[in-house]
Amino acid sequence: MGLWESKLPQKARSLRPQEKDILKSPLIIFVMGGPGCGKGTQCKNMATKYGFCHVGLGQLLRQEAQQGTRRGQKIREIMLQGLLVPTGIILDMISDNMLSCPESPGFLIDGFPRELTQAKEFERIVGRAPNIVMVFDCSMETMVQRVLHRGQVEHRADDCEPAIHRRLETHYTLFEPVLTFYQQKNLLWNAE
Ligand code: AMP
Repeated sequence: MGLWESKLPQKARSLRPQEKDILKSPLIIFVMGGPGCGKGTQCKNMATKYGFCHVGLGQLLRQEAQQGTRRGQKIREIMLQGLLVPTGIILDMISDNMLSCPESPGFLIDGFPRELTQAKEFERIVGRAPNIVMVFDCSMETMVQRVLHRGQVEHRADDCEPAIHRRLETHYTLFEPVLTFYQQKNLLWNAE
């Protein structure tokens, strides 16, 4: 664990029973895939078409990273290194965003889970599993090409040559156990 990580909250806050109740019935869809696979674009389309709430973790983290705070600065450092932001922060972001749309019929949680601990922690904190886990399959060459192009157009700090290789390494190292976890639960839905 890096020095900066030790100072960020590692543990997510527990939900109160009333909060768990709110999240019992809406449809919950996790959207997984490597950087540049198109999950953000497709989530936006699905959110518009079905009236679902889109919780884009990369986007929320980038907003947080732009804040001039110490916490924002640490998140920015982690993202630039292509590493994962601690699970406690991610789960707090997800539950806070979901609870801020209590009337929503469904949620698209984009960029989650990125490792097995996140998948298990979600079930522990929220008290239920997702309904569907969508996986966007895309070749590594295409992902690299798209991310580098996006870096030039949108100027996202982590869409650059050194960070993309680290992001892909993180993705390929941690992805398989998550897939197996959901395969066993029969929740996987492959999109190509
Ligand atoms: P993305 O825009 O989905 O490619 O995410 C950009 C960066 O945000 C990743 O490289 C990670 O540093 C961070 N990030 C996004 N989602 C997660 C997550 N579920 N867990 C930890 N870090 C994440």
